[in-house]
Amino acid sequence: MSRSKKSTRFIFVTGGVTSSLGKGIISASLAKLLQARGYTVTIQKLDPYINIDPGTLNPYEHGECYVTEDGAETDLDLGHYERFLNIPTSQANNVTTGRIYQAVIEKERRGDYLGETVQVIPHITDEIKYRIQLLGENNQYDFVITEIGGTVGDIESLPYIEAIRQLKWDMGANSLVIHLTLIPYLSAAKELKTKPTQHSVKTMLEYGVQPDILVCRTEKPLNENIRNKIALFCNVEASSVIESIDTNSIYKVPLLMEQERLDKVVLKKTKTSAQRPPKLKKWKSFIRKLETPRSSVDICLVGKYVELMDAYKSIIESLIHAGTENNCRVNLHMIHSEEIDAQNAAEKMEGMKGLIVAPGFGNRGIDGKIAAISYVRRHNIPFLGICLGMQCAMIEFARNVLSVPMADSTEMDPGTTYPIIDIMEEQKKVHIKGGTMRLGAYSCRLKKPSLAHKIYGKENISERHRHRYEVNNKYKGLFENKGMQASGINPESGLVEIIELEGHPWFIGVQFHPEYKSTVDAPHPLFKDFVRAARALTK
Ligand code: GLN
Repeated sequence: MSRSKKSTRFIFVTGGVTSSLGKGIISASLAKLLQARGYTVTIQKLDPYINIDPGTLNPYEHGECYVTEDGAETDLDLGHYERFLNIPTSQANNVTTGRIYQAVIEKERRGDYLGETVQVIPHITDEIKYRIQLLGENNQYDFVITEIGGTVGDIESLPYIEAIRQLKWDMGANSLVIHLTLIPYLSAAKELKTKPTQHSVKTMLEYGVQPDILVCRTEKPLNENIRNKIALFCNVEASSVIESIDTNSIYKVPLLMEQERLDKVVLKKTKTSAQRPPKLKKWKSFIRKLETPRSSVDICLVGKYVELMDAYKSIIESLIHAGTENNCRVNLHMIHSEEIDAQNAAEKMEGMKGLIVAPGFGNRGIDGKIAAISYVRRHNIPFLGICLGMQCAMIEFARNVLSVPMADSTEMDPGTTYPIIDIMEEQKKVHIKGGTMRLGAYSCRLKKPSLAHKIYGKENISERHRHRYEVNNKYKGLFENKGMQASGINPESGLVEIIELEGHPWFIGVQFHPEYKSTVDAPHPLFKDFVRAARALTK
């Protein structure tokens, strides 16, 4: 396809029957296949909730909040998009109902609709259509994939489905709808059941949208009969019934989709001539390494949402990338920060070759994090502290090495007389909670020589942030005198970005979030080297 001749194709991904079927992974997998065929692709997530962004949602509600280069607090699916495609996303890639309504209401107040009654159709739907088409402006991408959050039939998603209906009508073959649905297996009857899918497609039809492709999530392979039955009842060709069988790694899904010819069907339906088969050599070699690790290493993650894998999604994925790079499997042990203390730290961390202390907010579980850090600092076990994890490492050091028991962060004790971590000056005036932290990419200069410099192999780096509190530079000298060095500094503000400990094999704290930048094609150097160091202990 030559882009000068063809305009952007828009692919909509909806979900039926139930949530959590993996629309984000299917969208990212299709995008990967199209990218591997040489097309330019971007993915967008439309979330039907009224929050302006997920930044104010607690991880129990919505899993991790993923931060983009431009400082947008977004849905964790954007993390999958970046990890699969290795290209950055931005605020435009994640839009919520709250943001749509906010824009429409601002226009109403400005007088843009003077005289008109402002309504869901056409005003809200027009805003949704505008946000979708914005990504296709100037034919910058060959494909824009738009994933609609939620499940078809939800009240919240109605305006989105209506917007898709209208766009499909306007765009014809330049658009298509992929509906992800569930084919449950009833073990008592030993049968796969198509009825929920039929109902879900009927709901789409009631809204005026005929799905073009059905991706069917299933535990068991779909045979010819089932495929034909689904095709017959749902008005799709049998070749457009795509099996999405359960697998043990999300990274295998692009290959499964390739086997099912999802990319080919998409190209055919959008009348796009295939320019070449997907080049997936690197991806396949990653899968091979992932499948056949030569060794394993036990690493623990201390945080307060350990029962919820989605809360630390990007950290977990970064460790998978890093393990694969080291030809080893990372056995991740989650320890709840409220269940670890100075007395049981040795027992809880027995056999662990590395510790990650997670990012977070608020007082809950802080003592446990500090106890775990104290243990690994004294026992020469590799440590990576991320954001709050780094702040805890400094509190631990101040209390136990600098012998200042009242050292604290003003987040935990606003009245502390020894505020080694303090709120940033400009944050003191901020009272609004949404989108007001230090967010997005900031540059950092690494000191030479330092472990950080050795790991990154360069002096200037850029990493993404999400926090309000900072190392208080007033106390920096005291830490450095006792061997805790600030090895990364923001060149403009002088804020501490990285700390490391002299005389310890691997002890690094980072004020930023390296986990947001690790991808399959470019595993993050800090995670890579952390796993290498942990593995070195195993040998
Ligand atoms: N609560 C800390 C702060 O705001 C750390 C934030 C984080 O870990 N993302 O500075």
